[in-house]
Amino acid sequence: MKDIHLSERLCAILNFIPDSCVLADIGSDHALLACKAVEDGRTIRAIAGEVRVGPFRRSEEGVRNRGLDEMVCVRLGDGLSVLAPGEADCIVIAGMGGELITDILQRGRDRLNEQTTLILQPNIREPLCRSWLAAHHWAVLDEHIVEEGSHFYEIILAKYAVTGCTELSESECIMGPVLSKKQSPVFIKKWLKREKKLHQILSAIDHSVQKPSPSILMKKRQCVKEMKMIQNCLRRYFKTIKEKQ
Ligand code: SAM
Repeated sequence: MKDIHLSERLCAILNFIPDSCVLADIGSDHALLACKAVEDGRTIRAIAGEVRVGPFRRSEEGVRNRGLDEMVCVRLGDGLSVLAPGEADCIVIAGMGGELITDILQRGRDRLNEQTTLILQPNIREPLCRSWLAAHHWAVLDEHIVEEGSHFYEIILAKYAVTGCTELSESECIMGPVLSKKQSPVFIKKWLKREKKLHQILSAIDHSVQKPSPSILMKKRQCVKEMKMIQNCLRRYFKTIKEKQ
């Protein structure tokens, strides 16, 4: 059997999985993450949850072919309903939109406890995940960002905060509290690209011959606000660039 090759995104998720945990990968599709985590000895047992029959059967076959039936359990079902309360120490929900991820968390709240580690990787609408975590007393402990093709993927590691405040500012929700501090080259690239896009939108609005409608003016205000947020977050980067000139 060939070695499992994970994409950079899935490798980054794997790196966040705590050693010796019982892992649940919800929406596992191919169950490659669960198989790799077990094969690498990172987890003692894994549950791969999948709502669609096709991927569920493919996952079952993959697990069987790898001889991992004893350690990777593939389950058909919706979200966290495939788990008994507290059954998994680490729950990964990756490769879906932020809305679906928060919906899965919200409906499966009784499957989580104070020991659970959550690893979330929304493909879009990342702020929804961070807002949900903050509102339900989960603290964002670490974050990572990877670039694959033309897309940037953010990975969020969170633990339930027994004490302390989990509140996030608007910019922390949008840009990530840890990512904003780390300011990795990929993070900077993502937000410079966004800033450039906002410049283009504003320039198109300002150069339009038509009188702007109230909705266009509203869009303009939002763009200006977002641009200020980016420039404020990246001011250290901009300062270094200026000093070099
Ligand atoms: N997690 C993998 C990854 O990151 O590469 C696969 C991502 S794939 C794009 C999303 C998977 O989530 C699909 O296989 C889909 O069937 C599954 N899914 C969507 N909604 C789900 C739900 N409510 N419960 C379990 N799985 C779900």
